Amino acid sequence: MATVQRPGSRETHEVFNQASPLVDYNVYEADRPLVEAVRREGADWAEGRISAVGALAGSERAQKLGALANENPPKLRTHDRYGHRVDEAEFHPAWHELLGEAVEHELHSSPWKDPRPGAHVARGAAFMCMSQAEAGIGCPISMTYSVIPALRTQPELAAEWEPRLLSAEYDPRNAPAPQKAGALAGMGMTEKQGGTDVRANTTVARPVNGGGPGAEYELSGHKWFMSAPMCDAFLVLAQADGGISCFLFPRWTPDGERNRFRLQRLKDKLGNRSNASSEIEFDSASAWLVGEEGAGVPTIIEMVNHTRLDCVMGGATGMRQGVAQAIHHASQRSVFGRVLSEQPLMRNVLADLCVESEAATISAMRLARAYDEAIAGDEEARNLKRIANAVLKYWVCKRAPMHAGESLECLGGNGYVEESGMPRLFRESPLNSIWEGSGNVQCLDVLRAMIKSHASLEAFFAEVQEGAVSEPRLDAYATALRDEIPGDVETIETRARRVVERMALALQASLLVRYGDEAVADAFCASRLSGDWGQAFGTLPPRTDFSRIIDRHRAAA
Ligand SMILES: Cc1cc2nc3c(=O)[nH]c(=O)nc-3n(C[C@H](O)[C@H](O)[C@H](O)COP(=O)(O)OP(=O)(O)OC[C@H]3O[C@@H](n4cnc5c(N)ncnc54)[C@H](O)[C@@H]3O)c2cc1C
Repeated sequence: MATVQRPGSRETHEVFNQASPLVDYNVYEADRPLVEAVRREGADWAEGRISAVGALAGSERAQKLGALANENPPKLRTHDRYGHRVDEAEFHPAWHELLGEAVEHELHSSPWKDPRPGAHVARGAAFMCMSQAEAGIGCPISMTYSVIPALRTQPELAAEWEPRLLSAEYDPRNAPAPQKAGALAGMGMTEKQGGTDVRANTTVARPVNGGGPGAEYELSGHKWFMSAPMCDAFLVLAQADGGISCFLFPRWTPDGERNRFRLQRLKDKLGNRSNASSEIEFDSASAWLVGEEGAGVPTIIEMVNHTRLDCVMGGATGMRQGVAQAIHHASQRSVFGRVLSEQPLMRNVLADLCVESEAATISAMRLARAYDEAIAGDEEARNLKRIANAVLKYWVCKRAPMHAGESLECLGGNGYVEESGMPRLFRESPLNSIWEGSGNVQCLDVLRAMIKSHASLEAFFAEVQEGAVSEPRLDAYATALRDEIPGDVETIETRARRVVERMALALQASLLVRYGDEAVADAFCASRLSGDWGQAFGTLPPRTDFSRIIDRHRAAA
């Protein structure tokens, strides 16, 4: 048993009945639902690579780096010592180390470099693992991964930038991109007067030499949120004569000058503190038009579609982390002489958290397969992805803060203390729901998908039906859901959250019934579909196979 020893003081007590830290384990191999999903969804060929990321993310070193990067958030440096503007975010070395490793493992690029079946599943699983060391680095990683399809709208810009963006070398220098071994990309849409409503953007783009796709413009205006401002290039929206348009804005101009922008402030954020999110002003900054003038929203949506996939991954990752920590703690901590994980009420809480986590993981990975298939040209997959992404972005991200709060509580008072890592998890948890289109926006997007594309709704119900054929509770639920859509057209917008929540539950149930653990699927259907459940986690029916569910989700250190 460990003892407290202070130099020069006597021991006052023995330290016992405290859990050990959950470190030095492979976060991939310890995650059975994720391993099964990787194999099932077509990425078994990548298991070696994912497992390497899993080992890295679970190592004591990476866990410490993640904590350090959060305790030492980036600082804004506007000028150098001589008064020249530099407009840099200065990051802690821990941030650079983790981001560098993520780049080396090609989490920002692998599906575009090696676009074989399962490539987005493989990358998604590795992204989920790495985010368990630190979620903040996921922001530039995700944006760089996502920028490629939007950039390809303008082939000559893609030809110039893609090799840099796909490079597996991390080069953190603030230098012109052609001089660097690798580059990262961000995006700037949100302005003070409107984030969701990007059509309200007031940043103006003036053509330098006639304009047109691929041509140079000058941007004047601002962005209220622009994360990862150390990136080498950004896709930004601005008003051109033809309407809202998408531009590639590099930090440095092609003639090697600092581009004409100013970082005004870094946001003082609830969580995601290792990452910088800036306010920026453009002062006749050079930028190049991507796509047609006026086509800014459909062009940048190519990027947003992929960052939204990562939001689903991020929500599922947070839940997995919470479950791993909660089971680990409850298995080592005794209360009233009995290990917590053997106490009936705690078993109900843990199992309920596991059920939610498995549903999130399975659905995130199924969604990633839809990306793989859609990009390969499969129409059915494209239709499913169109609607399922918004459904799952809404629901998985919406569940994350409640899940994190309950996981934290499993550690008791220790969970409320920074050293446990749980406050960090909790603070991070609302973010995936906010950015890339907040909760309501996702629900309205589902309605839009239903109205615009009947095929999307059909693809969605076809996926649900595959599970419903063998599960009467899902069959009944899906039938009732169909009747609800659109139902009273007058009230459909008011009902959107209810409808989308039910769609998410039907989809998750269908996947669990087919691919999940039997006990998990049964608990999910009994609680989430049939209403044998309360308002909080820990209210599964007593007949649930708690042991089996908890054991399946245990992360052996
Ligand atoms: C940490 C962080 C980093 C960010 N990084 C970036 C970045 O790098 N680049 C970037 O461009 N943006 C970034 N954002 C901005 C983010 O994408 C926006 O904050 C988000 O899209 C919401 O926009 P908004 O803040 O303008 O809120 P609003 O658009 O004003 O929305 C406020 C609320 O209203 C709801 N709402 C909106 N429309 C409707 C409607 N029609 N019906 C019902 N409800 C509605 C929304 O769901 C939301 O809950 C970042 C945000 C955060 C917190």
